[in-house]
Amino acid sequence: MGEFWSKMSYRQYRRFTYCSYYDVSEVRGLFNYSLSCCVNSLLQSFSATTELLDILNKWCPSEEIEQSNIPQRLKNALLAMRDKSHPAPHKDFLDSLYRHAIRRGTQQDADEIFHIILNLIQKQISDLGLAQEIRSLYEIKVETQVQCSHCSFIQREPNSLFSLPLAISEKENTLESCINSFFQSQNLVNGDKYHCNQCEQKQPSTHGLKLVSLPLILCVHLKRFRNDRGVTRKLDSKVTFPDYFKSGIFAAGQPENVANDSPRADEHYSLYAVIVHIGSAMFGHYTAYIRPVQEDQTWYYADDCSVRPAKWADVQSTYEGSNAAYLLLYRKKSCNSSG
Ligand SMILES: [Zn+2]
Repeated sequence: MGEFWSKMSYRQYRRFTYCSYYDVSEVRGLFNYSLSCCVNSLLQSFSATTELLDILNKWCPSEEIEQSNIPQRLKNALLAMRDKSHPAPHKDFLDSLYRHAIRRGTQQDADEIFHIILNLIQKQISDLGLAQEIRSLYEIKVETQVQCSHCSFIQREPNSLFSLPLAISEKENTLESCINSFFQSQNLVNGDKYHCNQCEQKQPSTHGLKLVSLPLILCVHLKRFRNDRGVTRKLDSKVTFPDYFKSGIFAAGQPENVANDSPRADEHYSLYAVIVHIGSAMFGHYTAYIRPVQEDQTWYYADDCSVRPAKWADVQSTYEGSNAAYLLLYRKKSCNSSG
């Protein structure tokens, strides 16, 4: 440690002390290295996802792990974040990420980095059982269904997602209205006709998505960035989201032919992390609202080094505007939990 401190510049030292000064309770501040606010905010959400570290802690590889191993570095970072005296808990993790085609010092997309991290964990964790456990923790299972309008034959294809990508409109949205739109059936006609395997020719069809199962940790991606003719812009429109919902809100958008075959509608989900994008599509900054303790309603606002207690009303202020919620993380409550 002595050598470490002696190598640090005075400026870095001042920044580290600034970080620790604002550390409060269960959430600790993270220094911003080369625009790492996006990864910092994701790390705050991973830290609050205690189930993830529980799985990573079961992994004790016998072979030597290389520097760029993301599951190992993430595990170390999450453990170090719990040690308030550690000056730079996430530095090695960031360095490892930068070895995997994530460019240092550039503006990142939080949903994209979230997927890169989860996919690298899948690829690099040497225990296939644990890889599957982490996959199951986040995996939303859906089935694509294309029904021929002529003979009613249905072609099915299973699919899975780590986050639910919800398009939002320019006007007012609710989480439920976005979910309904996501699952809404579309008619494939004219040039979009689909090849029916039973009719053995292209036919007008109906395309729909069936929800097969929801995971313990549900990540919702509010698609605020829209590309129009090569120019990306950010949608500041309002998307209200609850701190708590029942999975029945998914039922309304389901195809009629699967209404009786959908997952349970009475599972309870509670919000515990919100990744916020501040600014425009060109220049932005990421922060996070975190509720680290399941049965506690106390929120914290993490803006790199700075962490402060927050209220639900503060989280609600991210419904719209330039400081808007971008990723929402909900946790399924166990059947035995009250509420
Ligand atoms: Zn057909």
